[in-house]
Amino acid sequence: TVRTRFAPSPTGFIHLGNIRSALYPWAFARSQGGTFILRIEDTDLERSSQAAVDVILEGMAWLGLDHDEGPHYQMQRMDRYKEVLRQMQERDLVYPCYMSVAELDALRERQMANKEKPRYDGTWRPEPGKTLPPVPAGVQPVLRFRNPVGGSVAWDDKVKGRIEISNDELDDLVIARPDGTPTYNFCVVVDDIDMRITHVVRGDDHVNNTPRQINIFRALGQEPPVYAHLPTVLNERGEKMSKRNGAKPVTQFRDEGYLADAVVNYLARLGWSHGDAEIFSREQFLQWFSLDHLGKSAAQFDEAKLRWVNAQHMKAMPDSELAPLVEKHLRARGIEPDQRLAQLCGLLKDRCDTTVALADWAARFYLPVKPSDEDLAKHITEGVRPALSMLARMLEGVAWEKAAIAESIKEVLRATGLKMPQLAMPVRVLVLGTAQTPSLDAVLELLPREVVLQRLAKS
Ligand code: GLU
Repeated sequence: TVRTRFAPSPTGFIHLGNIRSALYPWAFARSQGGTFILRIEDTDLERSSQAAVDVILEGMAWLGLDHDEGPHYQMQRMDRYKEVLRQMQERDLVYPCYMSVAELDALRERQMANKEKPRYDGTWRPEPGKTLPPVPAGVQPVLRFRNPVGGSVAWDDKVKGRIEISNDELDDLVIARPDGTPTYNFCVVVDDIDMRITHVVRGDDHVNNTPRQINIFRALGQEPPVYAHLPTVLNERGEKMSKRNGAKPVTQFRDEGYLADAVVNYLARLGWSHGDAEIFSREQFLQWFSLDHLGKSAAQFDEAKLRWVNAQHMKAMPDSELAPLVEKHLRARGIEPDQRLAQLCGLLKDRCDTTVALADWAARFYLPVKPSDEDLAKHITEGVRPALSMLARMLEGVAWEKAAIAESIKEVLRATGLKMPQLAMPVRVLVLGTAQTPSLDAVLELLPREVVLQRLAKS
């Protein structure tokens, strides 16, 4: 059965470009009835942080990218890596190399001067009949992997097609440092073996590691998984998306009022397609997803497009589900919403593209509004004041529901000879602080009568 994984390094806050590399293996596992594993690659102690792990966990939970196993932490698996290292030593798959950094630098310079690709030259690689240099005193060796000589490594990448690398291009990789700690590529292979990963879906910044990893797999007697290397996600300026050039942490999109399903929909389309479907639910995505329709070219993040996708999902979402999300933003600014909120969401969601924008709008129903001087000057004219007073008087006695409110408005229009906009605009400005609102009777109905009368009295 299918087993996939997401293996982020918690160095800096995970952004949308990173989390797309979680979405696809998650979706593949879910759509195949497989298992999705979360593995935190935290061996870079200098750059890893708990705060970054928290954003990964929080972001994935928010987006509903639930894992079946893990999180596994590489730092907690050191004993296991060292055990495999010992086995490899016993089986002569690795060898100690005493070449110093200075010697390696000198070697590299010589090779560059000769216009050769810099690579380790195998000085310390034992071969039958070869005499190795004398072991220098007091030097702790690194362990190098005996890469196969001759032949090539090939795989059928699910995104990039067939890739074949000659073994002569690959030198003997350092898989343990002088202090015995295992290196990155080695840990990944041990993990992918132990976690029985069948499909590796990851960013194509790892494509150069893959032939090395495959050779280690085979040396350990294992067949490598299927690989799918995803093209880069570019930011809006066409640079590789990264926290260093301003990519926001995933959780910030939640705080800015994006819906998890909308972000999943947007990210899904950023590198995968199903015909020309643009807006789809999580269920549809899982039904349609396969590794065969991953895009081959770099995708560009476009926040305006994301907002549009978000607006579509807000429209489709039942008001009763939207309300609790809006409620959070209202509470954050000290507003205690009531049972009107779901109806308000229904009334207002067409004009808002995030739940924060919706909360901004809904706040006008809970907090005093402050019309701009410009709106007041433009709409509250002497000619309209008598009509406003008349409307206020009528609303005092009317049943507080839309049809009766609409009837009062019509009566004022009949009595004064004003046209609907001549009355509705000033009422909107006074009651909600803006001339652009949904239909007036619907808006008034959702405000308490006293509030409407108070706000009208401010003319
Ligand atoms: N830890 C790597 C990263 O964050 C991913 C490694 C992998 O998926 O094999 O880029």
